[in-house]
Amino acid sequence: MVQLSEVKGIGPKTEMLLNKIGIFSIDDMVTHYPFRYDVLKRSDLKEVTEEERVVIDGKVESIPLIVRFRGGLNKLNFRLATNQGPIGVSIFNRAFLKPNLGIGTSIIVIGKFDRKKNILNASDIKFGTLSNQEKIEPVYHTTSGLNQKTLSGYINNVLLKYGNEIEENVPRYLLDKYNFLNKKTALNIVHNPPNFDKLKEASLRLKYEELFEFMFKINYLRLEKEKSELGITRDGDKTKLDKIIEKLPFALTNDQLKVLDEIIEDLNSKRRMNRIIQGDVGSGKTIVAFLAMYYNYLCGYQSALMAPTEILAIQHYNNIKELFKGKNINIELLTGSITKKDKKPIYEGLKDGSINIVIGTHALIQDEVEYHNLGLVVTDEQHRFGVNQRTNLKNKGIRPDVLYMSATPIPRTYALTIYGDMDVSIIKEMPKGRKPVKTIVRKESEIKDVLERMHKELQQNHQIYVIAPLIEDSENVDLTTVYNLRDKMNLAFGSKYKIDIVHGKMASPAKDLIMNEFKQNKVNILISTTVIEVGVDVPNATMMVIFDANRFGLSTLHQLRGRVGRSDLESSCILISNSDTKRLEIMENTYDGFVISEEDFKLRGSGDIFGTKQSGDMSFKIANLKSDYKILSQAKKDSLDYLKDTNYDNDPIKIRLVNSVKTD
Ligand code: ADP
Ligand code: MG
Repeated sequence: MVQLSEVKGIGPKTEMLLNKIGIFSIDDMVTHYPFRYDVLKRSDLKEVTEEERVVIDGKVESIPLIVRFRGGLNKLNFRLATNQGPIGVSIFNRAFLKPNLGIGTSIIVIGKFDRKKNILNASDIKFGTLSNQEKIEPVYHTTSGLNQKTLSGYINNVLLKYGNEIEENVPRYLLDKYNFLNKKTALNIVHNPPNFDKLKEASLRLKYEELFEFMFKINYLRLEKEKSELGITRDGDKTKLDKIIEKLPFALTNDQLKVLDEIIEDLNSKRRMNRIIQGDVGSGKTIVAFLAMYYNYLCGYQSALMAPTEILAIQHYNNIKELFKGKNINIELLTGSITKKDKKPIYEGLKDGSINIVIGTHALIQDEVEYHNLGLVVTDEQHRFGVNQRTNLKNKGIRPDVLYMSATPIPRTYALTIYGDMDVSIIKEMPKGRKPVKTIVRKESEIKDVLERMHKELQQNHQIYVIAPLIEDSENVDLTTVYNLRDKMNLAFGSKYKIDIVHGKMASPAKDLIMNEFKQNKVNILISTTVIEVGVDVPNATMMVIFDANRFGLSTLHQLRGRVGRSDLESSCILISNSDTKRLEIMENTYDGFVISEEDFKLRGSGDIFGTKQSGDMSFKIANLKSDYKILSQAKKDSLDYLKDTNYDNDPIKIRLVNSVKTD
């Protein structure tokens, strides 16, 4: 393919400018898509409002005057004869245009119209006249020294000359199936749209191609991994599993049953499982994981469940003990704070296989730990662990199957990309009888109302979480801290109720001690930072009060409020904030974690949820994951079929795409 420097008109200087905006090749050039389209349509000056963007054309009627200001600013003023009469035009910092604005020059002016003064305060001037139809103008990201018109000229020049050499990444049969435009035509339309219908058709086709290529690569990597990653095959007695399910104190939801089936199928297949369960807080992921561990036990293998904190590990341990009470399963707990002496028999039991299930924290992945035949590894609250820690546990067994649980619902679109190499199971349905946590937003000035509500809960012997964004005072003077909230709460309730605090800077044993006291209802009000965000279960806690709620992402708030509403008692959550209340009000009306994380995405971008690393590589040139989910899932399916169909193994497109994965 031709190099940029070989294109006529592109010298070394221009090439450098193009590099600056990410254009290094012909291909980059034609896929440097407009980030916006402006519609140029002659406005009716009698109709337009002060705020409206006005477009008008006409002939320069007076020699432009330059007004200069301090600081190098300047302004250009002149009169323009339009078909709607003469108007004044005023534009900042275009003094350099003066020589080109001779009397009689036809120009198009864009700006806002001040009717009283009969002046158009322009933001842009173009040369030419408007046709009677609307004109759609692409607007590109560019850099100084390279203006829109020049850039657009290069792009069109390249398209015209080399358009037929641009590589096609969608196989012929799919182009036919969807009746897609050919690539050159589509590119041409996107850079010079004749109308919005055509533009839509062309961009759909280019989006599809971009996502097809992307999903092809992900699918390819995944298939390769599957080929090399054979796991354990199982053929367990499912009726025994069904018996346990029947005896549960509640009926599993359809989603839970569906996900459990997906897991069992994975466990039985010879392919190694790599699956994540996504579900809202309280949707009942844990029980599904426990049942999978039970099935794994029935098949004769050990299971390990790793939780991010000791509190959670203990909670899981107690729950699973209770669930399998009376069964001949040996379950142990292994955490960092267990003494060396007590660890020894656990290490031995894991090594000789007498322990069937182990629940723990990072202690599970220390070097000393050896397993007899670890067949299933479950990781809770997946996002809390670094990738290395996850792999470590994976490598402990022969080729154990791996199941992750994530309590941060991620919109489907992102799940498809982020967890591209994992299978995703989703639990959407909440267990029956769950009452949504009544959520209200209050201003600080309404604190009296908040305290009254708290008092009512306390009187019924219910417990309350109070959350602050900071531990202690910092330079950020204005924010509420755990310590000053303790003083306030003591003042209000201290004479009758027990108030305590936990936060991330406390040592683990101290934290656990207080958490346990709270669990046992020995503490009535627990003040904390977001450390309690992760899966702690205290059904008697029915209220949560979050100070400076505007400091938190919606997903975090949703996670937090998931700590209450864990029984059949009515629960509530009060968000206190003096600002940002519009955003917070979303919480009043929505209980669906998936919807909330979508909102978070829209408002704050993905970095907040995943941390920047994971989200960094999700940028597309034309596709938009927020709105193009349908195209993405179609492209995912199509690319997988294409990959698997050996009839296409000699297809040049397939060969090229495969090679590009290898060199990526
Ligand atoms: P999460 O998905 O947040 O991890 P958990 O697994 O902790 O949720 O479940 C929350 C609570 O709901 C637990 O006490 C659990 O026993 C209970 N639970 C799970 N499934 C159901 C169900 N189908 N019906 C009623 N309660 C359920
Ligand atoms: Mg959980």
